[in-house]
Amino acid sequence: MSNQPVILAIDQGTTSTRAILFSAELDILAVQQKELKLHYPHKGWVEQDAVAIWRDTLEVCRAVLEHPVGRVKPVAAIGITNQRETTILWDRKTGKPVYNAIVWQDRRTDASCRELRARGHEPMVTARTGLLFDPYFSATKIAWILDSVEGARTRAEQGELAFGTIDCYLLWHLTGGRVHATDVTNAARTLLFNIVEQQWDKDLLALFSIPAAILPEVHDNAAEFGVTDPAWFGLEIPVGGMAGDQHAALIGQRCFQPGMVKSTYGTGCFALMNIGPDFRASHHRLLTTPAYRLNGRMVYAIEGSIFIAGAAIQWLRDGLEFFRDAAASEALARSVPDSNEVYFVPAFTGLGAPYWRPDVRGMISGLSRETTRAHIVRAALEAQGYQTLDLMAAMEEDGGHQAEIIRVDGGLVANGFMCQFLADMLNRPVEVPKVTEATALGAAILAGLTAGLFAGLEATECYWQRDRVYTPQMTEIERKRLYAGWQTAIQTLLHTPGNQGALTKNCLQPHLPIKS
Ligand code: ADP
Repeated sequence: MSNQPVILAIDQGTTSTRAILFSAELDILAVQQKELKLHYPHKGWVEQDAVAIWRDTLEVCRAVLEHPVGRVKPVAAIGITNQRETTILWDRKTGKPVYNAIVWQDRRTDASCRELRARGHEPMVTARTGLLFDPYFSATKIAWILDSVEGARTRAEQGELAFGTIDCYLLWHLTGGRVHATDVTNAARTLLFNIVEQQWDKDLLALFSIPAAILPEVHDNAAEFGVTDPAWFGLEIPVGGMAGDQHAALIGQRCFQPGMVKSTYGTGCFALMNIGPDFRASHHRLLTTPAYRLNGRMVYAIEGSIFIAGAAIQWLRDGLEFFRDAAASEALARSVPDSNEVYFVPAFTGLGAPYWRPDVRGMISGLSRETTRAHIVRAALEAQGYQTLDLMAAMEEDGGHQAEIIRVDGGLVANGFMCQFLADMLNRPVEVPKVTEATALGAAILAGLTAGLFAGLEATECYWQRDRVYTPQMTEIERKRLYAGWQTAIQTLLHTPGNQGALTKNCLQPHLPIKS
């Protein structure tokens, strides 16, 4: 390897904070990680210690820079990627947060979202932000802090407080309080940023009663965000890239052409399709979001989420104690020729896109005397294929593009049976990259772009290496037969009388992802 400089990616996630050193060829050289605690002070509330988030970030960065590679090679730039929507307000003079970080999973502002929806504001908000009214996004979390922390609103109006999502908060600290800025992908998750006009929206600020004085500047994803205070690493390192985690993964998977899709299978599943330079609102209650903006040119994406993916395997392991290790699910699934008509709808927390039924719960159908553990496990893995096909159909209609290939990452893609079934159901090749750290990789690419290590996004494509590809092998007849069975199962679930009762109470409330 050459003497080229390295890139430091910070990946601040919901459950951990990581620092990863990448080579200029985008290979991973060193990783440091720290677990992060979640606090649940009340039912539906989820908070994190904002001070710990910064302290952990500094610690893992320092540790990874102590790695021999970090010590001998210059760090060209830092890239930041982060759990999205999580909200922090802090004092501009001291840097002290005025309240804990309110995590994206927090539902405390449910009532205010429902009230806003009942007042008929949602179509206007969707047309400007691509989002829906939901406590998931930052705006109502900010308003809650301003109204609940004594003196916060007055101080905010007087310009004493700053708001930021995690990226922005970390940048502020890294630069020693000199820079208050974010990027378009993170700004777009606040419900305050107009992604068509690409600026903070006065009407939305008024709607949520949020003073403009607290807002950061919004930059492209690859930009000169600022330099680190020498107090932290002994020298100034430029921060050159920033993007929310799912957007960074789209970049890490090099989905640069319209129609390209990345799908991440962790606890839940998040799929993003690049839809090119034109904003399109979803007709299936998916989200429209910036994929990335470079040199002032925006590229949009359609985002869909499945609440339960790997969590179903975890449940079979821990709840039903079918096996000790998630990896054992593959051999079990392969031990039977099919699921013997068993369908497993893992709607443990409701159904997401395109059904949006928060009220329904999971179901295993088609049980008979011949059903074994293996059939149920196989059905749980097959459900990932069916759920993704449901989502893909909605994304293709909304996005106006056909997905030729799907690039996947996340813990579940270690399961070859699942990946093959996915390819069969989608009737498209499914590609697994060599470096599955797509999120951190995306941040590194953005930082490297600003540092001049790559001529442009396309110049990073040559470093994307495919580990495996799964090509469709199922006959059309079989595919249709199996999917028809899934649709019957879904329809049964949607029309279960108990569920309908719950529907009348809850149907207006869209549920959004449970894991970022
Ligand atoms: P997250 O980032 O959401 O914590 P990960 O990407 O680490 O999730 O993936 C972990 C999930 O993947 C777990 O739910 C686990 O059950 C599942 N998983 C991991 N390995 C396998 C495997 N070989 N087969 C099936 N599921 C797996």
